[in-house]
Amino acid sequence: MLLLAAQAARLAGDETEARRLFGVLARMEGAELLGLRGLIQEAEARGDWDEVARLAEQAAWFRPGAPWLRAERLRFALHRRAWREALALAGPDQPRAVFALAAAAEETHPRRALALARTAFASDPRFASAAATYARLLAARRRWRKALRVLREAWQAAPHPELAATLAALVPDPMARWAELRRMVAGREGEGETEFALAEAAFAAGLLGEARQHAERAAELLGERRALRLLADIEDRLGVGLPVLQARLKALGEAKPDPAWRCRSCGAEQAAWAPVCPACGEVASLVWHSAASAVPARQNIPAS
Ligand SMILES: [Zn+2]
Repeated sequence: MLLLAAQAARLAGDETEARRLFGVLARMEGAELLGLRGLIQEAEARGDWDEVARLAEQAAWFRPGAPWLRAERLRFALHRRAWREALALAGPDQPRAVFALAAAAEETHPRRALALARTAFASDPRFASAAATYARLLAARRRWRKALRVLREAWQAAPHPELAATLAALVPDPMARWAELRRMVAGREGEGETEFALAEAAFAAGLLGEARQHAERAAELLGERRALRLLADIEDRLGVGLPVLQARLKALGEAKPDPAWRCRSCGAEQAAWAPVCPACGEVASLVWHSAASAVPARQNIPAS
């Protein structure tokens, strides 16, 4: 009955009374967890995170494995941006890849950073920033073949410009990059993102004819500014003449915007992925938006 009275007080907006009653429960033998849970929710609603931590520690003493307690501790870890701790507390339904990648970015020890990036990639092979980071860290340790294999696997799971950019950083020679890219994207030709990557790499390698073919396909499939801009650059280099270029510029004006990371919470666009939206502070809210693919990275935050 005490629990009901406490819940009723909370619903009625009487926080002091709710806190008092939950406090009584927390001291009653057998009801400690019910009381503590109520007190934790009260403290969280007030934004008193130190109190949340103190109470969660007490609750853990009674029953460390309680799922609600785990969820509370995860929320507390996320509030503190304690990514490693969040990763340890996260279940399979939570955005483990996001937590692991955020932890990898902060980790100064190279081997530990690599292990975290590997976890991020394994948790979500469609999450391009995780694959790109993992590949870069592998390359930094001179594990080139493995790095290229990761990029190839990631492309086959979900093509993304960050993967192509990472390949460009790992393989600076344009001809070698062209050859490697074709291996990486094999089987996914005819898709917008792949055609765009092929066009860029062919252009960089000076293969203007091939570059134009791929750019035309990319422009058709994506309809985005970046593809039309690239096509115009290639045609300019080919010396196609003014009328064609003018037509391209006109199409450019009507093209769809370039893809970007967009926050599901506030809608702000970001050039690079981040674990926390720089605009609104929401955790794991950035989703890739592109004409080629709206990749819904598994980024759900525990509700309770
Ligand atoms: Zn936001």
